[in-house]
Amino acid sequence: MKVINAKLRHKDGLYTVSYQQGTFDSIELQTGLLNEAVSADVIDAKQQLLMAPLIDPHIHLDAVLTAGEPEWNMSGTLFEGIERWGQRKETITFEDTKQRAKKTVDMLTAHGIQHVRTHVDVTDPALTALHAMLEVKEEIKDKVNLQIVAFPQEGIESYKNGHGLMEEAVKLGADVVGGIPHFEYTREKGVSSVHFLMDLAEKYDRLVDVHCDEIDDPASRFLEVLADEARVRGMGERVTASHTTAMGSYDNAYCYKLFRLLKRSKINFISCPTESIHLQGRFDTYPKRRGLTRVAEIDRAGMNISFAQDSIRDPWYPVGNGNIIRILDAGLHICHMLGYEDLQRCLDFVSDNSAKTLCLGDQYGIEVGRPASFIIMNAQNDYDVVANQAKAVLSVRNGAVIMRRQEEQVEIFA
Ligand SMILES: [Zn+2]
Repeated sequence: MKVINAKLRHKDGLYTVSYQQGTFDSIELQTGLLNEAVSADVIDAKQQLLMAPLIDPHIHLDAVLTAGEPEWNMSGTLFEGIERWGQRKETITFEDTKQRAKKTVDMLTAHGIQHVRTHVDVTDPALTALHAMLEVKEEIKDKVNLQIVAFPQEGIESYKNGHGLMEEAVKLGADVVGGIPHFEYTREKGVSSVHFLMDLAEKYDRLVDVHCDEIDDPASRFLEVLADEARVRGMGERVTASHTTAMGSYDNAYCYKLFRLLKRSKINFISCPTESIHLQGRFDTYPKRRGLTRVAEIDRAGMNISFAQDSIRDPWYPVGNGNIIRILDAGLHICHMLGYEDLQRCLDFVSDNSAKTLCLGDQYGIEVGRPASFIIMNAQNDYDVVANQAKAVLSVRNGAVIMRRQEEQVEIFA
């Protein structure tokens, strides 16, 4: 099998990319445009961009497609979202969760996403959503590689048997340990929740991804606790701080000191720009904060940060369609990252950087010997993807085509 006439990121010319038995076996520069007939064995990329699959490193597949059930979030705040979700949770069933999650996975697949990290609420004595998601993970494995985070939506220390439920979730098969320290009832409970979740991850050899300081409160400083725990234990590359929106409200003197620790800790960051600009800044009049973490500054400091969509039509965020390029577009705007250099490499924030966060290692990337998983975008390069709001037109996973989009035709009559 081979793809001809492919553009590759950051490379001049056109390439032929070949693969056999689900693995790339050669990537060669062509001398010019090839005119081979398309067949079952030959795909013509038509001078479009062939790249590693897109990734959504932070979503809540157990909550998707529930907006307005039973009530809409009228204030638009994170905290009312948690209340509305509390109501919806009472009617969650195993089948309902599976059906919504699988429908959403198809929406993600349609946009060229092949790796997903989903948080699953485990503050439920029956762990219904977790059981459902473990089945979903198995049933969708030909489309998407799913990492499941044991996520304590209502707290670890502040929810009855929070510790027990987290450990049970990990034993049942959660890949990643989560947390929500800023939502715990007291600062001390927030700190002890971080110690607990890091112990749990170390004990069971799991990754860590914490909803950390998702609030505009400049006094919310659990990121330093998480980063230092990661540093001391030497676990940084396996640890992620999601959101960290309070950093958008920290003063520069504290942030300067904090960055020294963050760099040494080697932890990863995830920003959910559409979600955060919607949920944060809700208690401000004007000037109104953007409510995002310092994405550009984290990136410029050489740390790893990526973008994610967080929600699709749930109590926290009423829209979304699975298209991570929409998130990238919004994130670059909100974070003042539409400069020339950012545009040349902006797909890193929804591909390579996210792969590092998910610890995909040599299971990801367009290189000989790696799994033949790739997408073709209807664009030429990173800049073109954002400027033209490009879409994935083909998605191939381990050598098998899993999605093809018909190119749209526009006719202008004037
Ligand atoms: Zn989240």
